[in-house]
Amino acid sequence: MRVLVLGGTTEASALAKLLAGDARFNATLSLAGRTSNPKAQPLGTRVGGFGGVEGLIHWLRDEKIDAVVDATHPYAARMSANAVAACAQTDVPLGSIVRPPWQRHEDDSWRIVPNAEAAVAALGKTPLRVFLSLGRQDLHAFASAPQHRYLARTIEAPEQAALPPNIRILQARGPFDHDSEAKLLSDEEIDVIVSKNSGGNATYAKIEAARELDLPVIMIARPDKPAGHILGSPEAAVAWLHDRVPGSPRGV
Ligand code: NAP
Repeated sequence: MRVLVLGGTTEASALAKLLAGDARFNATLSLAGRTSNPKAQPLGTRVGGFGGVEGLIHWLRDEKIDAVVDATHPYAARMSANAVAACAQTDVPLGSIVRPPWQRHEDDSWRIVPNAEAAVAALGKTPLRVFLSLGRQDLHAFASAPQHRYLARTIEAPEQAALPPNIRILQARGPFDHDSEAKLLSDEEIDVIVSKNSGGNATYAKIEAARELDLPVIMIARPDKPAGHILGSPEAAVAWLHDRVPGSPRGV
């Protein structure tokens, strides 16, 4: 059975590992190409956009794909919308691994905003030391608030153009543990964190550390992300795919 996994996440890597060891599947992992040195994967990998819905439709047909699993990041809404549209038009089953968001704890001080521009406004006029943990694509929004000092953690170095003037880049890839996150926030005398609600364990330690240090978090809300059949885990994705293998009890 030929499978396309839309990846770029921990769940996609876990699913790639499961599918690589399973002779029922011939799977390809697709990455957006946001990092120049992605983790080695046990599956055949393709990198870069398909060219919108039409491009994805062609790719699914050319590669004779039998099923797609969308395991993209919770904020990668465009890719998911394209997958829903392309799978509907080609009649290819689509399963979507949906990572639950972090829930606000009673001791958390979160302000939820719709996007990076609203996060900038929420910082206010008084100069602050701000920890930006939201990837590199949205950093330019903070250039409109040059009064703050920023520490931005990204996997890949951002383009220098249009960054805020007082910014330091910390290049690192999760997972991050509690003690090192608490130390970072204290050593850097951070006043406020700006984060996405990525969910999962890999980057949750900063949220726990913020709670303990009584630091506010400006949380950028998740975008609406279209989905196919909702799958709770990589293992659930394998079971769902198995049901679609020709010859299996529920297969087609
Ligand atoms: P997006 O806005 O959903 O996707 C933009 C375009 O990138 C898509 O239309 C598609 O191009 C291409 N693309 C995205 N994921 C792809 C995949 N797995 N394989 C092939 N092409 C893919 O997503 P984004 O721009 O990558 O990221 C949006 C937000 O998610 C950012 O804030 C980022 O920080 C966060 N995020 C993304 C990833 C990731 O791996 N993508 C990982 C962690 C966090 P075509 O239309 O040409 O097909």
